[in-house]
Amino acid sequence: MKNECNIVIDLLPLYAEDMVSEETKRFIEDHLSSCDGCRRQLGIITGADIVKVAEPEKKPESEGAFKRIMKRMNRQFYSLSYSLIIFFVFLGFGWTAGENLMYNSLIMPIVGVFAYLIFGWRAVYKMPVLLLVIDMFVCLTKLINIGIYAAFLWTIVYSLFVLVGIAIAFLLHYAFKKENN
Ligand SMILES: [Zn+2]
Repeated sequence: MKNECNIVIDLLPLYAEDMVSEETKRFIEDHLSSCDGCRRQLGIITGADIVKVAEPEKKPESEGAFKRIMKRMNRQFYSLSYSLIIFFVFLGFGWTAGENLMYNSLIMPIVGVFAYLIFGWRAVYKMPVLLLVIDMFVCLTKLINIGIYAAFLWTIVYSLFVLVGIAIAFLLHYAFKKENN
């Protein structure tokens, strides 16, 4: 870095006069953006105190508004997905008394996909906990008639199905990302 500083300082007077090639200019600005010493040196040459270089351009106001809307939509999407997950888990567990494997082997992977959409990889440990909470709630409040051990066992089975869904979503996400690169 020190060597680079020497080169940059030698070039600074030319740079200040805008007498360097585009490539050199880019090199100098790149260096200045991460080197206080050389920036100060440039300030001395140009008479300014501290010259700010390569300050990212301010985004237009409309983009800010767009971002805000996106954020709000994301939040709505998040709570909607969250509700759907809880709804489906209730449905899968409650309606079938936790015992319809055929039915839940379809529902739970879908739950997993949704979970991946909102939690990302964290769904891997969040979903089993969420399942356990819901299943225990259903069991203890006697919403359905199922023993606590059975409820616990089904939670494990359903967690596995949910994990399958999460894995599928992850692979799709990964493949999509790769294609985009
Ligand atoms: Zn430097």
